[in-house]
Amino acid sequence: MRAIVIGAGMFGASTALQLARRGVQVTIFDFAHQGKATMAGAGIVCPWATQVEEPEWYEMYAAGARFYDTLIGDLTAAGEVDLGYRKVGALVTSQDAGDMQAAGERIARRTANAPEAGDVRLLSAREAQEKFPILRDNLEAWLIPGGARVDARLLSAAMIRQAIAHGAVFHNDYVTLVAKGDGYVVRDGTGTLHEADEIIVAGGAWASQILSPIGVAHPVKPQKGQIVHLRLAGVQTKEWPVLLPMTSHYMLAFDDSRVVVGATRENDMGFDYRVTATGQASVLEAGMAIAPGLANAEIIETRIGFRPAGPSIKPIFGRVPGAQGLSVANGLGAGGISIGPFAGKLMADVVTGATTEVPVAPYAPTL
Ligand code: FAD
Repeated sequence: MRAIVIGAGMFGASTALQLARRGVQVTIFDFAHQGKATMAGAGIVCPWATQVEEPEWYEMYAAGARFYDTLIGDLTAAGEVDLGYRKVGALVTSQDAGDMQAAGERIARRTANAPEAGDVRLLSAREAQEKFPILRDNLEAWLIPGGARVDARLLSAAMIRQAIAHGAVFHNDYVTLVAKGDGYVVRDGTGTLHEADEIIVAGGAWASQILSPIGVAHPVKPQKGQIVHLRLAGVQTKEWPVLLPMTSHYMLAFDDSRVVVGATRENDMGFDYRVTATGQASVLEAGMAIAPGLANAEIIETRIGFRPAGPSIKPIFGRVPGAQGLSVANGLGAGGISIGPFAGKLMADVVTGATTEVPVAPYAPTL
């Protein structure tokens, strides 16, 4: 079987890897648009604390986190060691006692059958600050040991490298779809046409630009995120847990004295690539309110990413009805670093006709 995957973000990279591993001849086209979500994503993998109660979405979110152990194990065994992945744990906190109690109950319910989350326990303010030294000194926190963070840039690059190791071919190119017979072919930047048995559009926030010219309506739109990277020079941050203060903001740290504070969620902005005063200020303000020790950190960069946001929070993937050999893999929204690798595996199952680990009908694209 020959497959073409358009887009090599979290969703496309995983789909390509899973297909290539099964012996499918895979060709990947990725334009790497500025604002590619996978290049800007924070990298938190910790589904158990979310306040979102949509069951089908949560099933994917939780399964996505579970799948990380397999994925990281496989990639490491294949020689991929630099993934920025670490189970640093997550601290869920609030200054509101009622919110803390509700969070404890929610996390207990969600982790009851999720041993991968580890033994959740309540930390005193002092214990929490020991784990996250720039945290305010009066915040208790729920510790979820299984919470992790990953550098999605490194992980997606590793998945593509491994797809190539299994015979996939990668092109950095902008492509379009052209109708041919009952199906479609892919036209690359030079005008050359590429045929395949299966074409998977994993174009993130740009997917409708690929699909609407062939008459396929696709409801995913860009949701702009501004996320700030700071350096705490000389501070050893690699073991710091992810910090989830139960607002739309959060904080995490990487090995190179880097602390990341996210993020804005801006709808109806189109592809607005600007770092704005309001955006950056709101993120920094939220960060310093919970972690005053950030005040003297150096701002390294503010990344802009466009989350592929569908009309509901659920991802959208599967065969496009009535379109021979055409599938979409999209709509990962704000949880795509967690969900993307697992969803890519399911997408590969759909395309190859394999049995899926969870029912995929709820995520199928409609016309
Ligand atoms: P993308 O990564 O956007 O990739 C799509 C690719 O398709 C792009 O490279 C694009 O250039 C390519 N493409 C499009 N059209 C064409 C074309 N015509 N030809 C060739 N290539 C094309 N998720 C989490 O789980 N945890 C987090 O902590 C987290 N934090 C986030 C923070 C921010 C600020 C943002 C923006 C997102 C965050 N996310 C997080 C969400 C996650 O990053 C996304 O859901 C995920 O990366 C989406 O992956 P994707 O592959 O669908 O899209």
